[in-house]
Amino acid sequence: MSTNNTTTSAYTDFHLQFIAGEWQTGKDDSSNTNTNPYNGDTLVEIQQATKDQLNEAYDAASQTQEAWAKQTPATRAAVLYKVVNILDQRQEEIVDWLIKESGSTRIKAMVEFSATRAITLEAATFPNRVHGEIRPSNTPGKENFIYREPIGVVAVISPWNFPLHLTQRSIAPALALGNAVVLKPASDTPVTGGLLLAKVFEEAGLPKGLLNVVVGSGSEIGDAIVEHKAPSLVSFTGSTSVGKRIGELANGGEYIKQVALELGGNSPFVVLKDADIEQAVKAAAFGKFLHQGQICIAINRVIVEDEIYDDFVARFLAHVKTLNVGDPNKQDTAVGPIINAKQVKSLKEKIAKAQEEGAKMILSGEIEGQVVPPHIFTEVTREMDLSRNEVFGPLVGIIRAKDEDDALSIANDSMYGLSSAVFTADMQKGLRFARGIRAGMTHINDISVNDESNTPFGGEKNSGIGRFNGEWVLEEFTRTHWISMQNEPREYPF
Ligand code: NAD
Repeated sequence: MSTNNTTTSAYTDFHLQFIAGEWQTGKDDSSNTNTNPYNGDTLVEIQQATKDQLNEAYDAASQTQEAWAKQTPATRAAVLYKVVNILDQRQEEIVDWLIKESGSTRIKAMVEFSATRAITLEAATFPNRVHGEIRPSNTPGKENFIYREPIGVVAVISPWNFPLHLTQRSIAPALALGNAVVLKPASDTPVTGGLLLAKVFEEAGLPKGLLNVVVGSGSEIGDAIVEHKAPSLVSFTGSTSVGKRIGELANGGEYIKQVALELGGNSPFVVLKDADIEQAVKAAAFGKFLHQGQICIAINRVIVEDEIYDDFVARFLAHVKTLNVGDPNKQDTAVGPIINAKQVKSLKEKIAKAQEEGAKMILSGEIEGQVVPPHIFTEVTREMDLSRNEVFGPLVGIIRAKDEDDALSIANDSMYGLSSAVFTADMQKGLRFARGIRAGMTHINDISVNDESNTPFGGEKNSGIGRFNGEWVLEEFTRTHWISMQNEPREYPF
């Protein structure tokens, strides 16, 4: 992978919207001040888009989609391969934006860059992987054909935590499969969650109008992007509360739309008594504190069997104390800043509540600016707020389980079902345990934070509906059309 950035000049114009293939000024009165969460520096000031500009984006998407769908698979694939090349050439520039805009540590920015590259490469294979079927018919003389066609226009709404990857995992498959996209990135990450990718696709030669990035306030365009007639699918990644509302909006108005909802999580990380404790400790620290815990599949509950609880806690505490906290730009920083002041406030409240509820805080530290150091709580029960809700920060509760059955019961005691993990030396036991977990994803002897472009990513219960990656997203971003052909006259009863 090349990191050579010397021949390419850095992208500019991130104060503009990308609509109908043109970079244009937002026409709303309000603006989005995009700041660096570590030092508060202003990165860019974006005049927000109006509803009329959103309509313009949808018109452009609707007008260009059919011609794009008719392009040969090779033509569409070529654009995606070009995108991969550009990502490689601009790796340093992109990683730099992830650090300064989303507060990613260098380690996390590289993880995110690699995931983004991988899903783009996977999506480049989609144009040639779409296939139909011929099914037998019980009606004499009939043939059944099942076609898989593009959905049409797709609305994408993405979050701020893995902005580049979580946006790209929707837009790359959507475009590869012959759809057009209108994207609203999160307000905290308009560049890495949208405008930067618009630049990359533009440079790769994607025809104008197929990808539109509209940066706007929730009150001006939040509902309109979902309720507009044009999108047949709304691909939303974000919190469960907003996702529920998006689901209602998408089907409560004049038009019925498909929705793909990738929502919040509460991943259990279970350590059984026969586990390699040292390995489990390292995994727990990385799976919990990567990106300051602001990952939907981050470890949210550590559940440890009674016999090894004290040993695990002592070793985990010692290991976490060695993590470097602070400037995300430094090579060896493990825990960087929280995305915004509102999230910091919510974490302070969670710290206070954990103590009120009787959890024992065995590690804490001074909160400086938006940097919250790791906080560890022991003697946490399944009823406490730390266990019931998504923390989305560098706080962790460790729950004591009586035995394996109790550990499974605690792991499943959640309204979420996204990812999960179990550590054990016995693979058969691990597999049995994993199959008992009600979640979309479970990893044996690894962290809950895993995403591979060819395996199904998604959750159940309040973690959402739908799957990303591989053939699962290929189905999600296409529609099925049954066409039957009556080859000889059929006899009708009347
Ligand atoms: P969020 O729900 O606040 O926002 C997500 C997106 O929705 C943003 O673009 C936001 O601007 C937009 N939005 C907010 N209100 C809206 C409205 N009323 N109408 C239309 N759009 C609206 O989530 P967030 O804070 O950006 O992200 C964190 C949450 O996302 C966590 O709960 C996390 O678990 C979840 N998440 C899930 C996945 C997954 O794959 N399951 C991945 C990442 C994050």
